Amino acid sequence: MKPAAFAYHRARDLREATELLAELGEDAKLLAGGLSLVAMMNFRLARPSALVDLGRVEGLSYLRRENGALRIGALTTHHAVETGREVLGEEFAVLADAARHLGHHPIRTRGTFGGSIAHCDPTAEWCLLAVLLDARVVVTSAARGSRTIPAAEFLRGYFSTAAEPDEAVVEVVFPAPARHAALTEFAPRKGDFALVAAAVELDMADGRCRRGRVALGGVDATAVRVPAAEAVLTDASPADDLWLAAADAAARAIEPGSDAHASADYRRRLTRTLVLRALREAVAR
Ligand SMILES: Cc1cc2nc3c(=O)[nH]c(=O)nc-3n(C[C@H](O)[C@H](O)[C@H](O)COP(=O)(O)OP(=O)(O)OC[C@H]3O[C@@H](n4cnc5c(N)ncnc54)[C@H](O)[C@@H]3O)c2cc1C
Repeated sequence: MKPAAFAYHRARDLREATELLAELGEDAKLLAGGLSLVAMMNFRLARPSALVDLGRVEGLSYLRRENGALRIGALTTHHAVETGREVLGEEFAVLADAARHLGHHPIRTRGTFGGSIAHCDPTAEWCLLAVLLDARVVVTSAARGSRTIPAAEFLRGYFSTAAEPDEAVVEVVFPAPARHAALTEFAPRKGDFALVAAAVELDMADGRCRRGRVALGGVDATAVRVPAAEAVLTDASPADDLWLAAADAAARAIEPGSDAHASADYRRRLTRTLVLRALREAVAR
């Protein structure tokens, strides 16, 4: 199918993009890589009255380390993250590893980090890692300037975020290194969106697991943390029994839905397997 008619604007910079959003009203949409938005427009699931193209905006494509944090510009492609190990280092290697799960190579070369966060698919790898690692999303509007929103508040539910219609995502900030982190997922075909994805991060010191974070995608309306599994990992002795107990706790804590792709029970069993696999991978790093 072809999209419904829309007006097209090419922004020269972020200021102009957000001014256009304010002027054109809430039916206007930003266009980044176009992979999700244009597909939705072709299926008439989205009918924006106007598109504001960010493609020529400079200065929004970067991976930067600053005071231990990692900053990722909104127009940074998935491929740039996948190949950015020099900047990511061991501390943020989980992002480069996770990128290989994200679609196929051509998708990774065009799709953007900010577009993925703004699109808020329940199994998107970047949304999952943003929730896991307490990332912050920086947005800006022409009228009100910039504000910073914790990822867990920004990602509200199915394709829904806390950004106002006149706001653009500028960057995502991962505040602290995550050396022992891993993301695992299961998709029926390579390159498809995952049915379930699990991401974990462990704070290991003096042979103990001081704290663990566990987040899941594909089991709720957006990526979620699992406090019941995290409680199991607090101040514990790292051993396979511990990882199994945390994986069991995660599977028990969720209420996934059933749909044409998988039953709730299958998603629960996937969760247990994937959390266990992620924990084993994270501790081995
Ligand atoms: C076959 C296929 C497989 C895929 N597999 C995966 C996968 O496994 N995992 C995954 O996570 N993704 C997957 N994707 C989606 C892909 O990663 C997209 O790149 C991503 O979801 C959106 O990025 P984009 O730059 O294309 O955004 P666009 O499609 O341009 O925009 C998406 C939405 O975000 C908004 N937006 C874009 N940029 C901004 C901004 N800076 N500020 C505010 N709003 C903005 C747009 O208005 C729109 O609503 C797949 C896509 C395809 C076609």
